[in-house]
Amino acid sequence: MSFNFASNVQELAGESTLVYQEIARKVSKEKGIKTINFGIGQPDLVTFKRIRDSAITALQDGFTGYTPALGIDELREKIAQYLNRYGDVKKDNVIVTPGAKTALFLGFILFVNPGDEVIVDDPSFYSYAEVIRLLGAKPVFLRLNMRENGFSHDLKSLEELITPRTKMIVINNPHNPTGSLFDPHEIERIMEISKERKIILMSDEIYDNFVYEGKMKSALEDPDWKDYVIYINGFSKTFSMTGWRLGYVAAREDIIKKMGVLAGNIYTCATSFAQKGAIASFDSFDEVKDMIELFRKRRDVMYSELQKVKKIKVIKPQGAFYMFPYMGDLLRAMGMEIKDFSVELIKSKGVITIPGEVFPKDVGKDHVRLSFAVKEQDIKEGVKKIAEFVDERLQSEG
Ligand code: PMP
Repeated sequence: MSFNFASNVQELAGESTLVYQEIARKVSKEKGIKTINFGIGQPDLVTFKRIRDSAITALQDGFTGYTPALGIDELREKIAQYLNRYGDVKKDNVIVTPGAKTALFLGFILFVNPGDEVIVDDPSFYSYAEVIRLLGAKPVFLRLNMRENGFSHDLKSLEELITPRTKMIVINNPHNPTGSLFDPHEIERIMEISKERKIILMSDEIYDNFVYEGKMKSALEDPDWKDYVIYINGFSKTFSMTGWRLGYVAAREDIIKKMGVLAGNIYTCATSFAQKGAIASFDSFDEVKDMIELFRKRRDVMYSELQKVKKIKVIKPQGAFYMFPYMGDLLRAMGMEIKDFSVELIKSKGVITIPGEVFPKDVGKDHVRLSFAVKEQDIKEGVKKIAEFVDERLQSEG
C-alpha cells in the first residue's frame, strides 16, 4: 500500500537545526574533531535542583495520573501570580501545555482558517510559518530592519500588509533568532494596530527573563490585553527545562476553556509530575538571576571575539541568547551561500552555527545564528576557529 501524506504535511519542514548537529556528529566520529556547538537553542545548565526535587517527590508520592486538561490548579495559580508582574492575569486565564510549541499550536488552530493570513517577522522562529501553512493559511512576512542596536519593525509596512484576510499578527520579544529586544514604543504601536484593526496578537515572550539591558514591554501590560492578546510563555528557557515540555498560554477565560477542549482531544494534559516540579520553579529566581548574569558575560565575550572576524557585522543583542551577525559581504567575498558556510565550517573546524535561512524568509540568507548558551572557553575557542576558517577561505579565493 502506498501511504500518501495529507497535502498540508507534504511540504512541512522539520526542526532543521538538528540537521547541523547530525553533520557534526558524523564529522566528529570520522575525523575526531572536537565539536563546539553554537547551534543549540537551550541553556546549557541542568534544571535547578529545587525543581528536580519537587518532581521526584511528586513521583514518589504517586502523582502519576492524568491532570485536568488546563493543568493543575496550583501551577496555574503560580503562573498567574508570576504574570501579574506584567498585567492582570488570573488562574482562569491560564492553560499549561506540553511546551510553548504546543501553546503556539493551540493558539493557531483555535483561530486560523484555511485561506487566512498571519503576519510573522522575517526572520522568525521557524515553526510559526510551518504551522500556519499546515493549517492551510498563509504566512505573510514583515521584513525586520537591521539597525545599530538591533532589529526593528517597520510599522508602516506592517499596516500595509494588513488585508481583510489578516487573522493574526505574531510577535516574539525578546526575539529568536536576532537576540533583539524591541523598543517598547514599537511594541506598543503594534499592540495598538492589532487592537484598532481587530486582529489577534499572538505574543511569544518565552525569553522574557533574558534581558541584558533596556526595558521589555509585555503585551500583558495593556489593561485591555484580554480583548486581543494570546500570550505565550514557558519553562524551557527561564528555568532550563527544555526536556520537561512545559509551556503555557494566557488569554481570556473563554479562550482558555476552548483550548482545554482542544487539549482534551489532542494530548489530554501536560505531564503530571513535571507540572508538580514546575511549581517550585517560581521559587528559583535567585538561580535564574545568576544564569542571566552568566549569559550576559558570555554575550560580551562572544560579541568582542566576533568583532575580530573579517567582513562580518555584529549587533550586540539585548535579549535571548543569540547573535545574528550580517554575513552578506563575507559570503560574496567567499563565493558562498550561508548554508554552505555552516556546513563547511562544521566539516573543517567542528563549529556548529545555524544558517539564517532556517528562519524564514529572506533576511536570514545573509545571516548566521550563534547561541551563546555555551561555556566561555568554548565561545573563545569556537569564534577563533570561525576567524581561522574565514581567513583560510578568503585567502584561497584570492
Ligand atoms: N518560541 C520560541 C521563540 C522559541 O525559541 C522556542 C524554543 N526554541 C519555543 C517557542 C518553543 O519552546 P518549548 O521548548 O517550550 O516548546
